[in-house]
Amino acid sequence: MKNTNTSKHIFVTGGVASSLGKGIISSSIGKLLQSRGYKVTIQKLDPYINIDPGTLNPYEHGECFVTQDGAETDLDLGHYERFLDAPTSHANSVTTGKVYQEVISKERRGDYLGKTVQVIPHITDEIKRRVLMLGKGDVDVVITEIGGTVGDIESLPYIEVVRQLRYELGTGQVAVVHLTLVPYLAAAGELKTKPTQHSVKALLEAGVQPDVLVLRTEKSLSEDLRRKVALFCNVEKDSVVESVDVSTIYEVPLKMLEQKLDETLLRKLNLDTSRKPVLDDWREFIQKLYHPKKTVSIALVGKYVELPDAYKSIVESFIHAGVRNNCKVKVTRIQASDLTEENTAEKLNGFQGIMVAPGFGERGFQGKIHAAQYARENNIPYFGVCLGMQVAVVEFARNALGLSEAHSTEMMVHSTPDPVIDLMEQQKGITEKGGTMRLGAYPCRLVKGSKAAAAYGCENVSERHRHRYEFNNSYLQDFEKAGMKATGFNPETNLVEIVEIPSLKWFVGTQFHPEYSSTVLHPHPLFVGFVKAALGE
Ligand code: GLN
Repeated sequence: MKNTNTSKHIFVTGGVASSLGKGIISSSIGKLLQSRGYKVTIQKLDPYINIDPGTLNPYEHGECFVTQDGAETDLDLGHYERFLDAPTSHANSVTTGKVYQEVISKERRGDYLGKTVQVIPHITDEIKRRVLMLGKGDVDVVITEIGGTVGDIESLPYIEVVRQLRYELGTGQVAVVHLTLVPYLAAAGELKTKPTQHSVKALLEAGVQPDVLVLRTEKSLSEDLRRKVALFCNVEKDSVVESVDVSTIYEVPLKMLEQKLDETLLRKLNLDTSRKPVLDDWREFIQKLYHPKKTVSIALVGKYVELPDAYKSIVESFIHAGVRNNCKVKVTRIQASDLTEENTAEKLNGFQGIMVAPGFGERGFQGKIHAAQYARENNIPYFGVCLGMQVAVVEFARNALGLSEAHSTEMMVHSTPDPVIDLMEQQKGITEKGGTMRLGAYPCRLVKGSKAAAAYGCENVSERHRHRYEFNNSYLQDFEKAGMKATGFNPETNLVEIVEIPSLKWFVGTQFHPEYSSTVLHPHPLFVGFVKAALGE
């Protein structure tokens, strides 16, 4: 394959165990290079066969992140955006499903001219095409994170691509970072490097020599241990980097900087190291994060309370918004299905703000209604996101408009006389589940004088969506008369994007997902506004 682009490539692979934080390491490398003035983009290659994680249950893979251009992706793309403060797109998310779909449709079109279609070269060529495509344009460095762990059957074609590209692109064009775990054996009082050695062997068997090893560890690595790993794994000693557990993921870039990981990689890629990293804003953020002036307590009512990754972007958005408000936001996940008419006041007692999370399906819906009602009747700041907004609308219809059987048609086993939340016109007739929701960024016009307009400080915004149901506009007048206003509309379709109860301190619901666009340097205005309201400011 001819190399038509000049971007350099960094591949990040993982070994020994999953969940070591390849996404954070990739994002941190990206951040450091970006802070030296390089244009960087980060891509995720996921070896599973689903076309995208849009159809995956959060129990499988945590939150589904949505890009501006409407791709349903792995949650690591959220980290890339939050660290780099730059949007990703469809092109930044590749799965085995997408690769095979493309190859098979080419085969059906006859593009392979009678050849036998095989993993090598056809699948690997398609993966390479996608990796190289991302380097076109003015990107200096493409960072590619390979999901899974080395040695998995399904990640083999991806490792093979790294091998081929290193050879094809030539010296100084590709660097490989391998992330492993160095476990601490308490009984022996020792950190153990053998799993790392084995993991590097597995990578070598596939023809790939890593350039840098990042070792995830609970305890700091001694010089001796680094020397030993370097010797056994054929890397230079300063290419053995430790990643010690830290209390915030946002500190990882600084930890990597201390060990000159950025410089090492730039040297391997024959790139200039004279421009020094500028990270003043980042350091200021961390400084504030570690020294909050006060604490605010928020209840996050949802279905997946036991899964820390299910509401990843929301939790991160609260961290960003907390720092902006000089406070620590303590988010407590509350199981929606545990809330009843009798116990809601007690379970939500003491929280300064209530958020009802996005979601699908009936489970926990009634509990979410209780949460919205409790917030509304007690004037506790409320923020409903997507389903959380729909819940607020249904609750208001039932308890303020007196439409006791009002419902969202998504939840109805039988029909409702008052479908205040209804299937969008464009969704009627859709039967396929994958990639068929209203996805990605749409414009929203804000109503002057609203809380939303005040928070954003402007009139026109663009926000990301992932839903099939919408506010039923035939009820709008009744809602507005009773005190719930629509304060954000899609300017083309008139779809209600935001509702508010202006008489309350802060009662806002958004049909879109603000959490997908909050970053460290640009916390989302609605999260900032909500936290401020919860603080009573
Ligand atoms: N289930 C609702 C819908 O499809 C809300 C979706 C969401 O919260 N992302 O409209």
